[in-house]
Amino acid sequence: MDKNIRICIVGGGPAGLSAGMYLEKKGYTNYTILERSDRVGGKCWSPHYNGKRYEMGAIMGVPSYYAVHDVEEFCGITHDGPKLNRNYKDAKGNVIEPFEPKKNPLKIPRLLKMKKQVKKFGELLETKYKGYDLNGHRGVAEGRYEGYAVTPGREKVEGYNSNLKDLALPFKEFCEMNGVELVQDIWIGPYTSFGYGYFDEIPAAYVLKYLDFQTTMNFVKVNLWTWEQGTQYIWEQLNEHIAHPARLNSEITRVERRDGKVYVTVNGVVEEYDKIIVTAPLYVADGNMGNNNGMVDYFDARDDEKELFSKIDYERYTVQAITTTPENHPEISYYVFDNMVPEKLGHLMVYYRRWKENIDQVITTYALRTHKRMKEIPYDKCNEMVLEDLKTMHNPAKEVINKWSVYYFPHVSCEDYAAGWYDKVEAMQGKYDTYYAGEVMSFGDMDETAEYSRELVERFF
Ligand SMILES: Cc1cc2nc3c(=O)[nH]c(=O)nc-3n(C[C@H](O)[C@H](O)[C@H](O)COP(=O)(O)OP(=O)(O)OC[C@H]3O[C@@H](n4cnc5c(N)ncnc54)[C@H](O)[C@@H]3O)c2cc1C
Repeated sequence: MDKNIRICIVGGGPAGLSAGMYLEKKGYTNYTILERSDRVGGKCWSPHYNGKRYEMGAIMGVPSYYAVHDVEEFCGITHDGPKLNRNYKDAKGNVIEPFEPKKNPLKIPRLLKMKKQVKKFGELLETKYKGYDLNGHRGVAEGRYEGYAVTPGREKVEGYNSNLKDLALPFKEFCEMNGVELVQDIWIGPYTSFGYGYFDEIPAAYVLKYLDFQTTMNFVKVNLWTWEQGTQYIWEQLNEHIAHPARLNSEITRVERRDGKVYVTVNGVVEEYDKIIVTAPLYVADGNMGNNNGMVDYFDARDDEKELFSKIDYERYTVQAITTTPENHPEISYYVFDNMVPEKLGHLMVYYRRWKENIDQVITTYALRTHKRMKEIPYDKCNEMVLEDLKTMHNPAKEVINKWSVYYFPHVSCEDYAAGWYDKVEAMQGKYDTYYAGEVMSFGDMDETAEYSRELVERFF
């Protein structure tokens, strides 16, 4: 492709900024990133409180975040944040140690069985499900894998493995089918409480591409990365280091693609490009969630785009930032496993204390409001439920200082996954001089989205 082509990138979150960086690394000098809001980072939002930054969005990474590491190297920064640590509470607010056999003599047989199953699962993933952990979902529904190895060198790999079709099953069914149902006890912590839905409804592919075996073990060992200035800082730094920083406050009202050109109306002015990469939401089910709309609403969307993107669902993940009095400040972050089941929808699943030494800091709380077979919990009601839960946890809030319910983890259903949704969308890449990136194309975390952008540039530019 001609290195001088004019490329428009919609969205200045991890996916859009990484697309800019990788294009630049490959010699493309003529890209423009249009960001609707007044800051970069998207769901990496790290506001200030008392001179420190807390996290309203992304918090952590793992050592296999190779794309995020590319960004760190590009900018000369590192993951220098506070060490993460956590304990567990039951729904009544008692501190528990669910994985400690000595504290749970009655549970010893289950814990031993679980340990065995985790080992077996690791082996199954390497053998029966070879190729399961590649970024993106190309070929999975057809029993193929195609992409780049999850290694620093990201070697190209591809092959056939018909077992991969099983990844379209709900994760719960997938585990039961493989005789490893107890591994859900481990995977649920960094999955459901992080807002990615429940195991009886979400295709195993999403769970395992994010929580591949190594990543899950890093969570178990708390071998995790954070950033002192927050995850937003990563993307602020990237924005400062790329040749063409994102143009903030860019309101796109129309995109028309005709005669091999892309016409983008930004803040009332029509701009001409050759290609467009969309990292912003492709479709938002209820039209306007927290000021989000989908590309199908402002693009001259074609029938295939409308048809496929209308299948995208998302989670309503709700975060509150609270303060407490010193005596009510939690000693550490807590997971509440009892609340990670659909029956406890809307309840507090995890709360995060960021700084070990500091007691005048913000605590952030996390709850989910949707499950595919249940009625959605309204936003205000969910916030109230979480504040009540904090009282039960013996850490009542003094004041709520921030909150949002975010358009989270766009994904498709097990049925659409099995019917080859991803291969249909991948076949459309470039068709209308348009490329689709961002969360739905891979998974809703910083690294999967940045890595997808890397591979998109590698594959098509
Ligand atoms: C509470 C929470 C906790 C999380 N925890 C973690 C974690 O610990 N680790 C991790 O790796 N990830 C975590 N994530 C997920 C991670 O933040 C996202 O997956 C990642 O930010 C996705 O990047 P993106 O660029 O695809 O999308 P986004 O971050 O959503 O960025 C999209 C950007 O596009 C802009 N935009 C939208 N519409 C338009 C438009 N029409 N025109 C122009 N611009 C537009 C938005 O303003 C935004 O800046 C968390 C997210 C949340 C909310």
